[in-house]
Amino acid sequence: MGIFITDSTLRDAHQSLIATRMRTRDMLPIAEMLDKVGFFALDVWGGATFDVCLRFLNEDPWMRLRDLREKIRNTRLQMVLRGQNLVGYRHYSDAVVREFIRLAVKNGVDVFSIYDALNDVRNIKLAIEVAKDQGAYVQGVISYTTSPVHTVEKFAEMAKTLESLGCDSICIKDLAGLISPWTSSELVKAIKKRVSIPIALHSHCSSGMAHMSYHAAALAGVDILDTAFSAFGGGTSLPPTEGVVAAFKDTPYDTGLDLDLLYEIGEYFVALSRKYGPLFTTEVIHPSVDVLTHQIPGGMFSNLVNQLREQSILDKLDDVVEEIPRVRADLGYPPLAAPVSQLVVTQAVLNVLSGKRYKRVTEELKNYILGHYGRPPSDVNEEVKKFVVGDKKPIETRPAELIASEWELMRYAGQKLGILHNEEDLVIYALFPQLAVRFLRGEVEEEAMPGVVEAADSSTSTVEPPVELSVDVDGEVFNVKVSPPLGKAVEVEPTKIAKKVSRGAIVSPLRGMVLRIEVEVGDRVKKGGVIVVIEALKMENKVSASHAGVVREIFVREGQRVGAGDILGVVD
Ligand code: MN
Repeated sequence: MGIFITDSTLRDAHQSLIATRMRTRDMLPIAEMLDKVGFFALDVWGGATFDVCLRFLNEDPWMRLRDLREKIRNTRLQMVLRGQNLVGYRHYSDAVVREFIRLAVKNGVDVFSIYDALNDVRNIKLAIEVAKDQGAYVQGVISYTTSPVHTVEKFAEMAKTLESLGCDSICIKDLAGLISPWTSSELVKAIKKRVSIPIALHSHCSSGMAHMSYHAAALAGVDILDTAFSAFGGGTSLPPTEGVVAAFKDTPYDTGLDLDLLYEIGEYFVALSRKYGPLFTTEVIHPSVDVLTHQIPGGMFSNLVNQLREQSILDKLDDVVEEIPRVRADLGYPPLAAPVSQLVVTQAVLNVLSGKRYKRVTEELKNYILGHYGRPPSDVNEEVKKFVVGDKKPIETRPAELIASEWELMRYAGQKLGILHNEEDLVIYALFPQLAVRFLRGEVEEEAMPGVVEAADSSTSTVEPPVELSVDVDGEVFNVKVSPPLGKAVEVEPTKIAKKVSRGAIVSPLRGMVLRIEVEVGDRVKKGGVIVVIEALKMENKVSASHAGVVREIFVREGQRVGAGDILGVVD
């Protein structure tokens, strides 16, 4: 029997190459053709697509799903789900997980590819159960990584557990492209020995091994391979659909897919890749084999470069890249998958920036060490643990046990704000409360991108000079040059931030967004008291008073973007 192909051009490919910026209107014209191919599934939703739709594209992610479903009647639609994190960056309560999955099925998802960044099965068990209850197909995912504590045998044992939980297939998900052909073969064989359900391999071309690994996995008996059309394949993305299909043609592994039809569809994506051309950077087209050491997924690497550039510390890139494996080792070798990847990379940046390791830490790091993300693959370095959380003991329970059901509370709050029109809106609000208010009120504008021009508008264009803006992509805050949309001025948030340094100034250490203001003018604060919480790289960074005193002024408001060195308030 031949190999099945899951095509991920409409999800992972553009997430890996162009920061998830493909628009629904660019997907729909080719959807019916894609439906004719006979793919095992089309991976079209979840991961970063949900967040980016709301944050940058001013698109309703539910609408994207429904529109694709309307045109894709015969092929399974797949989404990637981060277990208890769903499509966000923290754990949500069980009630939110249930509602999200129920509505995802209702709006068109057939296949849930469910992973946990730490491979802690307690974080995905509920999602698997709910998806099965809803009649969906569940792919249980092993987040692949390499480390002194990760072995073929342990991964294979996890596969057995996933099968026992009711998964319909197992996916070896190698998001940074680390798996070698030899290991692919060994791992597929080891899993096959233990389970009877199909096995999928999902790898990226970042290190240059993925094509060979796919071949090796096929010879070892893999059932499904994840690919992307060649115009959006290769580099930090997946192996090319057309090439993989061609490679197995007229062999026992033949996919049975029509190469002429694939070629025709491929032409559409070639044209589309030209449109998005300016977003493809050298780092993602030509990734380095260095990924085997630092393990940062491709899309995230280019964001890191941008972020360091914006903080004017690009010269520290080598230091940060060297620090990442050390932080990862300290934390018990987690796979660098969202949301843990953001946490590790941010800590490496902070360690290099502050000159002393763990002198400054994020709330997320503390929570990680205290077990709120789940059980790390190996023990956290004792010294680091002591330094960061003191004598506090990590929790033993499943992290979501400690989260109160937010669902009805969010419904009440959302109704009070008058932003909810349906249950899907409520999910948006429950997942991304701050972003959702702006999105559901219609205040998010579609982000303009330099050089990416809609064909119909091009005649009237007068190109204005690009403006520097800070944006978030899949958990990364970074700077992009943004050209205004044609004929429209870019709306840059007006800043009330006093730039002049005064005595007692509370200064933002990082570029990011004001998440919470913990004090009011007139409050008395102790030395070290928290003044403001800044969100950068989706991490919470507390900005504290360097001395005791009275809060004289606060210059920022919640939701406002601030730069490194900006003055947030005054305590004297
Ligand atoms: Mn991937």
